[in-house]
Order: sequence, then C-alpha cells, then structure tokens
Amino acid sequence: MYKKEVDWSLFNYGFAIPLDYQVAFKKISERYMERGESKDIRLYLNGKTYSARLNNNRIAAKFGAHTDIVQVRYEKNSEIAEMLRQVFHRSYAYIESQKQLQKPGSKKHIPIPEELKEYLVVYTTEYDDTYIVETMVTEEIDTVKTLVRGQPERLFEAALEEDEGNCGFGNSDCIRKFRKMNRLVGDNLKQLYDYRCQICGAAIGNEYDAHIAEAHHIRYFVWTMDMDAGNQMILCPNHHSLIHRLDPVFDRQRLRFVFPNGTETKLVLNRHLKATG
Ligand SMILES: [Zn+2]
Ligand SMILES: [Zn+2]
Repeated sequence: MYKKEVDWSLFNYGFAIPLDYQVAFKKISERYMERGESKDIRLYLNGKTYSARLNNNRIAAKFGAHTDIVQVRYEKNSEIAEMLRQVFHRSYAYIESQKQLQKPGSKKHIPIPEELKEYLVVYTTEYDDTYIVETMVTEEIDTVKTLVRGQPERLFEAALEEDEGNCGFGNSDCIRKFRKMNRLVGDNLKQLYDYRCQICGAAIGNEYDAHIAEAHHIRYFVWTMDMDAGNQMILCPNHHSLIHRLDPVFDRQRLRFVFPNGTETKLVLNRHLKATG
C-alpha cells in the first residue's frame, strides 16, 4: 500500500513510489521487473479499470548515490489523468490558480496548504499488474476530522482495529477507507515485529497462536489523522494502556518515551521508525 499526496505531477504524468517505504512494490519490481524495464498495468478506481505503465528505473539521487524507483506513468490526456483531475478537482483548481500567478513555463513546485491536502492510496493486489486506487478528498478528510476530533484516542484506536461492521464512529465510506488503510499499515507492522511489543519485546499470546499486539499512534490519531507507518508503533496491551494512562512524551530523536515521573523508556525493538531531530 502506498499513500501519495496529490500534486501537479499526478494530473499530468504519474507518480513515483519510493522503494524504502513500500515493501510490497519492491517485491513486485524485484520479482517481475528488471531495472529499466517497464510494463502495462491496470489501475482500478471507483469501479472502473484504467491502463497505465509501470517503470522500474534507477535514478541518480542527491549526493551522487543511485537508487531504484518505481514509477506509475500515463499521458496527460489519458482517461486516468482525466479522472484524477475530476476527483481531485479542488487540488487541481488550486494548482491551476497558483500557476496563473507564476511566470509562464515556470517549473516551480506548488505546495498545497495543509487544509487542502488530498491523497491517492494505491493498494497492491494478488495480481502483479493490477492495483486498486482509492482517493481521499478534502470533503472526506473533513468529515472524518469532525467525527474523531477530541474523541478518546484509545477508543478510537480500538474502533479502527475492529473488523467490518459499525465501529461506533459511523460506517460511512470515508470512515471505512480510513479504517482499511490504517489497519493495513498496523497489520504490516505487527508482522514486521512478529507481534512483539516495541517497548518490552514480549509477544504475549504467541505460544497459544494468538496475537493481541496493538497498533499505537505516536501523535494521536484523533488530532493528527496520521496513520502512516511513521506514526504507528506496535505495543502489548499493557504498555499500550500505560502509554494512554500517563501520556508520556515520545522523544523522536532518541526513540524513547519520557514519562511524567522522569523515567525514560527506550524502545527495545525498532525496525521502522527513523530517529529524527
Ligand atoms: Zn510491552
Ligand atoms: Zn494508542
């Protein structure tokens, strides 16, 4: 699964998928595609199938290093580009209006303000040439924001993990979309840690073939709506409860929690969070 912020390139020629971020795409490109190779793919969006190309390129990154990158490509006048301009009409209108203010031919990147940001979410399927594409537009993001803002985080996290059915926060299409994406990220992380708690390393339940590890949102979801892997960690139910009871500060730079009584607890397991300043 890959979540892409809507920008100018999406309306004109496609988007790139950073490989360090998306294991599933990496596997596909490694298994089926040589470097420099490209192939036809299908994008399934809102009940319709669109054609596009997938390129596996090796590009020069900053500072002279090389990196592999997977790119989804289509023509500006293709059906998929037309559809994306329709669905993300707000972003498109915003970018177009900003372009008017620029000098003709300017290649300057146009940043979209936080409250207008929209997203494309790409899911892999069991077929290596077919991808499911979902859209998150501002109306939906605003709806979910209104529903979750200020709600108890622990309850909302539990609701997000629930199976299908009503999660207590309504069952609208947009809640369903958020839940699906959130869960997929959480499930991938649980597998990555073999259902172990990143604080204590315990895998409670594994001996009984049961998994009760939980996904925690570092910056609370009810305020940030951030469900990317970089904002989730895997915890045992005990440590998860403790975190929500005491609300310690998570020190990103040193990857540790600082509790109100001064105790610092470092993560014993970490394979996905990058220490940042
Ligand atoms: Zn634990
Ligand atoms: Zn939590």
